Amino acid sequence: MSGFFSKKYDGLAPYSAGEQPQDKKYIKLNTNESPFPPSPFATRLARESAGDMFLYPDPEYATLVKIASQKLGVNSSEILFTNGSDEALDFAFIAYCDERTPAVFPDITYGFYPVFAKINRVPFREIPLKDDYTIDVKDYFNAGGTVFIANPNAPTGIALKRSEIEEIIAKNPKNIVVIDEAYVDFGGESAVGLIKKYKNLIVTQTFSKSRSLAGARLGMAFACKEIINDLKTVKFSKNPYNVSRMTAAAGIGALLDEEYFKDNCKKIAQTRENFTAELVELGFSVLPSKANFVFAKCPKLSGETVYSELKNRGVLVRYFDKPRLKEFVRITIGSDEQMEKTLEVISEILKEKK
Ligand code: PMP
Repeated sequence: MSGFFSKKYDGLAPYSAGEQPQDKKYIKLNTNESPFPPSPFATRLARESAGDMFLYPDPEYATLVKIASQKLGVNSSEILFTNGSDEALDFAFIAYCDERTPAVFPDITYGFYPVFAKINRVPFREIPLKDDYTIDVKDYFNAGGTVFIANPNAPTGIALKRSEIEEIIAKNPKNIVVIDEAYVDFGGESAVGLIKKYKNLIVTQTFSKSRSLAGARLGMAFACKEIINDLKTVKFSKNPYNVSRMTAAAGIGALLDEEYFKDNCKKIAQTRENFTAELVELGFSVLPSKANFVFAKCPKLSGETVYSELKNRGVLVRYFDKPRLKEFVRITIGSDEQMEKTLEVISEILKEKK
């Protein structure tokens, strides 16, 4: 660190994203990307828009917003597009957390929440998950701060029902509740419809997982018009052109090619169920996932051993060196072939370590 780095960031540990190794080709199941390429229509629109790169994009992204509103059943005034959903979450920390309004989230959840709190210098309170790694909704009633819930949660994959999410929103009338639906398309129940009923709700979603656009960086926030206007104030104060022309074009293609999106989500959910059953057969415990990953624990080997043995054999998964997580590995659901290969490798490791 240089001697010039502001003291206000003393002790800031950045978010550690999953490895993006360049040394060899892995079966890459560590960052919850889609195993499928983007919709060919999305790729075509992005390519066609590249010739206009010399011009700034429309900072309101009117065409993208219009198509999203038609496809997703919300008004244009109730949507904001962002540079990945990470940016939407960051905007929510900026807009709705301060000294008197801490961020409130589970102790085991998306690792970026505490980092957003720290860089924005707002306090936060972490609420422990129950012993079975589920969220007790009652813990979030009158939370006394801005609530952030990933649904399905990460890295557990466990989802709350929409009725449970609604209870949390209804029991926090004086605070904003942010529901992070990065993984909702793989089997969760979305809370987007509830923005019509609740003025304290923000739902964030991403194109990175179910719509195969992780590299394009596109996310969205849904909320009532007043909240979207707050978030726009933040966006226009930080980065008005937060989504590139090519990404906006890809987003339009991805939204219009609904069949491709639905097919891929269905395939991944099916592969997840098959893979889970096979892992259980091999003796693993697997938390019940509604996401495009599973969180699994081997009774005989630590999470770190499973992670490093898999890596040595060319399969990359995610391991978290933290209490209550270190026995597990998080495995992204890839294609059927990738998961079959992964199971073969796991069986090999188990045989060797017997
Ligand atoms: N929320 C959760 C729970 C995530 O796991 C991720 C992906 N790392 C994100 C949000 C952000 O994804 P993106 O910025 O790619 O939309």
